[in-house]
Amino acid sequence: MSSLLNKKSIDDIDVKGKKVLVRCDFNVPLKNGVITDTNRLTAALPTIKKLIADGGKIILCSHLGKPKGEPKPELSLAPVAAKLTELLGQEVKFAADNEVVGPNAKAAVEAMKDGDVILLENTRYRKEETKNGEEFSKELASLCDVFVNDAFGTAHRAHCSNVGVASIVDTAVVGYLIQKEIQFLGNAVENPVRPFVAILGGAKVADKLNVISNLLEKCDTLIIGGGMAYTFLKAQGKEVGKSLVDDSKIDYCKEMMDKAEKLGKKLLLPIDTTITKDFPDPIDAPIDVTVVDTIPADMQGLDIGTKTAELYADAVKSAKTVVWNGPMGVFENPILAKGTIAVAKALAETEATTIIGGGDSAAAVNNLGFGDKMSHISTGGGASLEFLEGKPQREIIKKESGADSVQALDCFSGVGSVLLI
Ligand code: AMP
Repeated sequence: MSSLLNKKSIDDIDVKGKKVLVRCDFNVPLKNGVITDTNRLTAALPTIKKLIADGGKIILCSHLGKPKGEPKPELSLAPVAAKLTELLGQEVKFAADNEVVGPNAKAAVEAMKDGDVILLENTRYRKEETKNGEEFSKELASLCDVFVNDAFGTAHRAHCSNVGVASIVDTAVVGYLIQKEIQFLGNAVENPVRPFVAILGGAKVADKLNVISNLLEKCDTLIIGGGMAYTFLKAQGKEVGKSLVDDSKIDYCKEMMDKAEKLGKKLLLPIDTTITKDFPDPIDAPIDVTVVDTIPADMQGLDIGTKTAELYADAVKSAKTVVWNGPMGVFENPILAKGTIAVAKALAETEATTIIGGGDSAAAVNNLGFGDKMSHISTGGGASLEFLEGKPQREIIKKESGADSVQALDCFSGVGSVLLI
C-alpha cells in the first residue's frame, strides 16, 4: 500500500497538557465582514474536537485572502473566531496581534488551560509567510510543543505555517481533514476500485497537462469537457469556430490521444456542443444557444451538447470510482450549465465512490444541491489537482533519493518530518 496513506495523525500522539499549533484552512469567503460559506470551518471541527477531548491547548492558525505581508483589518480572522465559537459551542478566543506571534498572542498562549482554543491572526499579515522565511517559522514553532497540519487547501504550498514550522518542531502530524483527503484522493489514484472514470473540465488545457497525463495511466476512462475540450477537438482536425483553443497545446493533445490508444484507455471527447455567437456579458446574461454536431466557424462552444451529456452520464453509470475536476461548460450561466448539471446528476445517482476535486466543480455540485450525495468533496482545488498530478509521489521519491530540503521533501502535506516511507 502506498506510503501516501500512511502519515502519522492526531490519533498517534498524546497531546494532554501540550500546546498544539493547528494549521487550518480558514480562507473563507467574506462579504462586508460576514462569512458567506462556513464549509471550511465545519470541515476543521473534527480535529479541533478531538484535540479538546484529549486535553490539549489548541492554538489555531490560518491565512485569509491575500493581505500581502501587512495587516489589513478587512482580512482579519476575528470574524472566524466568532463563527467558530458558535459552531464549536465553546469559546475560541481571538489572539488579536498584527505580528501574528507578537506580545498579545504570546500572552494569550501563556494564559491557556487544557482544552482551551485560541485563534491567531491571519498568517499572511507576515511577509515571510509565503516565502517560507525562517524567522516567522521559528516564532510559530516557539508557541507549541506539537504541530498539526490540517489545511489541505494550502498543503501544496511551502509556507512558514505548514512546511516551515513542521521542519522545526519535533512532532508534526496531520489532522483528520488532511487524513480524509489523502485517503479518498490517494485511494482513487493509487488503488481505485475499477472501472475508474476521471472527468476533467474547466477552461485551460495548460493548467491540467500533468493531470491528464498522470490520470491516463491510472484511470480506465478519461472524459474531457469544458473549454479544454476544443484544443483536443482541433487536434483531431475538427472545426471549433471561435471556441477557446490553446494552439500551443495541440501537439500535446495529440500525444495524449496516442497515449490513451497505446494504453488501451478510453478518452471521451464531446460529440456535440452547445454553441452561441458571443460569450455572455455579464456571464449570467440570457443568451440564445443551439446544439450542433459541428461548430460553425463564427460560433463558439460554451457547453457540451445533449448527446455528449448522455454519453458522459453513461460512462459514469458503469464506473466504480469517479474523480471529477472542472465544469463541463460556462456553468455560471444557467443556460450553459446543463452539461455540468447532467454530469453532477450522474455522479449523485451512482453507487460508485465519487470524488469532487474542489474549486469550481465543488461549487457547482454544492450549488446544485448534490453535495451530500458525493462520497467526498475536496476542500482544496489546487491541492487536489496537484495530488491527481502525482506530485506527492514525486516528492516522496525525492526523499527516498536523499534530497535534503524540507521544501522538496513534502510540500504537499507540510509534514516532511513524519513521512513514513
Ligand atoms: P478552471 O478554473 O480551469 O476549472 O475553469 C473554470 C472556468 O471554465 C469556469 O469559470 C467556466 O465558466 C469556464 N469554462 C467552462 N467551459 C468553458 C468553455 N467552453 N469556454 C470558455 N470557458 C469555459
